[in-house]
Amino acid sequence: MSALRQAQEPVLRLIGVTQQYGTGSTAVSALSGVDLEVARGELVAIMGASGSGKSTLLSVAGGLAAPTTGEVVVDGAYLSEQSPTQLAALRRRSLGFVFQDFNLIPTLTAVENVMLPLELDGFRARVARRAGTDALASVGLADKAGAYPDDLSGGQQQRVAIARAVVGGRRLILADEPTGALDSVTGELVLRMLRARVDAGAAAILVTHEARHAAWADRIVFLRDGRIVDETRRDGAESLLSSTR
Ligand code: ADP
Ligand code: MG
Repeated sequence: MSALRQAQEPVLRLIGVTQQYGTGSTAVSALSGVDLEVARGELVAIMGASGSGKSTLLSVAGGLAAPTTGEVVVDGAYLSEQSPTQLAALRRRSLGFVFQDFNLIPTLTAVENVMLPLELDGFRARVARRAGTDALASVGLADKAGAYPDDLSGGQQQRVAIARAVVGGRRLILADEPTGALDSVTGELVLRMLRARVDAGAAAILVTHEARHAAWADRIVFLRDGRIVDETRRDGAESLLSSTR
């Protein structure tokens, strides 16, 4: 692949993705023919009613579940062609998940939580700690490196989770209602951090219920019954942002 094509390759591509749970009369089509691309520097919000397939889309995009049909391509790699070991390595190196309930390990400090993916990937502790410290600084929490999750506010915990999602230069952040457990002011701050990581060169999908939060995105994709039914794009104009903030 030429350098130019590589530069243009989206960080994530979903091609005709279908996800079915169960079989026969109890089968549920959680996703039906979903096509989606997310580029470097792009934040895409996914909105839709409960049960519309948002979380399924993130699981499939992150290689946590294989789609029933269709292809998922991360950084140019077709997930269906990866061995389980390759897939695990790709998840560790390219992807970061952020969940509603933070999912930090309570017995590890903030910096230890952030450096964990790198340690699991075989980095030396010293290298991992330096990268972890940098990632924490990038979400404004340099001074909380030694704090345990229980000593941090919800918003601080979620910023640690964002630092963990981007540590080591990972490029694709998948956030499933990351502000769901936060008050609105704290939620805004967390999204500001997510936006900053994307502007620094990552790509992200943000699942959210709130239009006000989706306004941080470059594009909003609406899911209904597992299908993309609408899409709005900000196109560089400030209209969406200014009308909602
Ligand atoms: P959302 O995140 O938008 O609420 P989900 O992706 O969780 O939607 O679910 C989409 C549909 O798939 C729903 O009908 C849900 O009940 C169904 N579903 C999700 N996960 C499973 C599962 N593990 N087994 C069976 N059905 C599931
Ligand atoms: Mg969900």
